[in-house]
Amino acid sequence: MHVAVIGGGIGGLCAAIGLQRHGAEVEVFERSAVLAPVGAGLSLFGNGLAALDAIGLGPRFRDLTDPHGAVTTGGQRRPDGTWLARLGPGLLPDLRVIHRADLHELLVSALEPGTLHLGSTCAAVPGGGRELDMADAGGKRRQRYDLVVAADGIRSSTRAGWPGDPGLRYSGYSAWRGVTRGPVDLGGEAGETWGRGLRFGMAPLVDGRVYWFAVATMPADAVVDDEFAEVRRLFGRWHDPIPRLLDGTDPAAVVRHPIHDLAKPLPTFRRGRTLLLGDAAHAMTPDLGQGGGQAMEDAATLAALLAPVARNQDPDLDAALVRYDSLRRKRTQPMARAARAVGRVAQLGFGPAVVLRDTAMRITPASAMAGRIRAVQRWEPPTP
Ligand SMILES: Cc1cc2nc3c(=O)[nH]c(=O)nc-3n(C[C@H](O)[C@H](O)[C@H](O)COP(=O)(O)OP(=O)(O)OC[C@H]3O[C@@H](n4cnc5c(N)ncnc54)[C@H](O)[C@@H]3O)c2cc1C
Repeated sequence: MHVAVIGGGIGGLCAAIGLQRHGAEVEVFERSAVLAPVGAGLSLFGNGLAALDAIGLGPRFRDLTDPHGAVTTGGQRRPDGTWLARLGPGLLPDLRVIHRADLHELLVSALEPGTLHLGSTCAAVPGGGRELDMADAGGKRRQRYDLVVAADGIRSSTRAGWPGDPGLRYSGYSAWRGVTRGPVDLGGEAGETWGRGLRFGMAPLVDGRVYWFAVATMPADAVVDDEFAEVRRLFGRWHDPIPRLLDGTDPAAVVRHPIHDLAKPLPTFRRGRTLLLGDAAHAMTPDLGQGGGQAMEDAATLAALLAPVARNQDPDLDAALVRYDSLRRKRTQPMARAARAVGRVAQLGFGPAVVLRDTAMRITPASAMAGRIRAVQRWEPPTP
């Protein structure tokens, strides 16, 4: 079975690794000439780990991360540092945080040599056939495969030609992300701080550096002269260690992204022999920290379902693709809805609504909150 994967992001690379494990012949086409992931961290919950286990990368990923790092308390705080919801060691979610550059290095190193073609811009030929239009240094050409997997991200050009593509919608908020230059002591505490239309999150990496993000309600096309100065203006007086984290970050390495998701769920992730995977299929806001984890689940699901086809034990590729579509829509579309709902609450800006939200959080038992996080993390790959 010869598979083309469009996009060398988390989803595309995991799909290629998973399919190659079962003997599929896979090529990954990435439009960037160099892989340069955003200089930020990525949180991965238990379900993402289960997906990495399923494609054989769990042990290497665990070696690069720490369960909870030095964190003994997580949850949500107010800008003055008082806790709204506090999870102690026994209730903390199964969470690991990795620098995106380290994750990409791990994924690329797990591919068979010659799999990844950089500087190749592709689009699946509309209509759900098995063909791919490709443009690279060698010129333009059309190639035929048994299956085309479009993992080309939130602005997928393959999805743009899909029936029922709802397009993207802006969440109303944008996020800055950064990683400190060196280790910063968090005193065992991490998580998020919720203000009015403002949010700050922090999590330690395995080497003690800290990944942080800052979210503000603003227009998608807001022009900010100095991004880092704006983060300092909005969050610089919040509780310790937020000012220390900002002091310890290289301003030039801080990036802002407007947060979008898919305006509506797609009616299908499959069209003939073309599949959508990862953000291309179900771009969600990052409020549950699940976009990457869901792309990994997609990849592990596809690999599990196609294993008998790749090994020539089952000729019914199309039946496996139908099942992928059904399983992954059921899992990811409610998740995208939930992520957006969490974002809406977290970004509340109207005073009385914020007071109500904060009161509700204070009186919700920590075990109930932990139970909800655990439910999201519960996932295992399907059996073919
Ligand atoms: C602020 C923020 C914070 C986040 N935090 C988390 C988190 O903590 N945990 C988590 O799990 N997720 C998080 N996410 C979500 C996560 O980053 C995405 O869900 C994940 O990267 C999606 O992976 P992907 O492979 O589908 O797409 P991408 O990573 O976008 O990869 C798509 C790739 O396709 C390439 N490409 C695009 N078009 C073409 C083409 N025509 N031809 C060839 N190549 C092409 C692109 O160059 C890119 O390399 C966050 C997102 C944001 C914005």
